[in-house]
Amino acid sequence: MLLLIPGPVTTRPEVREALRYDFAPWDNDFRPLYAGIRERVLRIAHGIQGEHATLPLQGCGHFITEAAVRTFIPLGGKLLIPATGSYADRMIRLAREAGRVPVPLAISPVAPTDPDAVAAALAADPGIGHVGLVYSETGSGVVHDVAAIGAVARRLGRRLIVDAVSAFGALPLDLSAQPEIDVVGFTSNKCLEGVPGMAFAVARIDRVEACAGNAGSWSLDLSSIYAHALRSGWGSFRFTPPAQVLNAFNTALDLFDAEGGQPARLARYTANMRTFYDGVRNLGLTPCLPPQVQGPIIVNVSAPADPAWDLQRFVDALKARGVLISNFYSTELPSFRVGCIGAITPADMARAVAAMGEALGELGIAQRRAA
Ligand SMILES: *Cc1c(COP(=O)(O)O)cnc(C)c1O
Repeated sequence: MLLLIPGPVTTRPEVREALRYDFAPWDNDFRPLYAGIRERVLRIAHGIQGEHATLPLQGCGHFITEAAVRTFIPLGGKLLIPATGSYADRMIRLAREAGRVPVPLAISPVAPTDPDAVAAALAADPGIGHVGLVYSETGSGVVHDVAAIGAVARRLGRRLIVDAVSAFGALPLDLSAQPEIDVVGFTSNKCLEGVPGMAFAVARIDRVEACAGNAGSWSLDLSSIYAHALRSGWGSFRFTPPAQVLNAFNTALDLFDAEGGQPARLARYTANMRTFYDGVRNLGLTPCLPPQVQGPIIVNVSAPADPAWDLQRFVDALKARGVLISNFYSTELPSFRVGCIGAITPADMARAVAAMGEALGELGIAQRRAA
């Protein structure tokens, strides 16, 4: 089955094979593996030794985003969140539920966040200490400019929290050039092509130390994870880790390196996206984004105008042909969404487009233009 969803992604057989081994997390065979993963992740983020630390957290992307918000923003603190789409909405909700004060910045759902609009919003409210930015908005497929928005925050003396869950490993990120970034969060199961179960933060050590005591949660406190590492070593966990998942993740990182790292991954995903984007247009369908703002991670396609359109039936017809896509959508108007990430190639995307042509025929969809 070809999984074309934005996580968990299709994985390579080597990664699934690595799940076969059991480990005791405190054992001397496991500790160097785990400490090594922290180093490898730090290098991918271009973190600086001694200035940045990798702080892993069991679980999914929401957990690391909430931990980042709780750790770096004090209770009652304000963060500006460009309302880029459904994943920014999730950050807004979890910040609010954690007792922080999200300040949504309304922006177009079909364009990158304008750094000038962020600058104006920050200048208008000196009480906003942070910007919370979704790097690749999985809801829309638009990529937002972390370097440009970070430069604005830096100039105005504010800090940045980056949700890079669907970006990290594929889109460029250079923490050494962006000291205004407190933390970037991501998971094992998207562009790094591991299996789900682990989330990661790469954070500034001076800020983690300064923010001890903010979190109001023991489980979701990145400064507690840091303090534990200082006390018990970088190969040790506070709580039981998904050890098999981490071993598979280490194999996924081997494959990442062998492919040529972030630039190679971006090139492959971009080729996947182009093959798919052009393919669905040739079928008469309409992608939601114009090509100049379409990011490489996820493509939303407008639901056809034909009254016979039914998303679940379309998903079922594709699944019968070996291709699985999401059976829900996160755009304002009805659409279907396809992930271009994971251990897949342009040939797989071409196969998916062919399956979609057949599925549209099976459903009797004649009017394929957007409703
Ligand atoms: C997938 C994703 C998340 C987190 O999702 P989980 O289901 O919690 O792993 C957060 N932000 C973005 C942009 C994502 O794509």
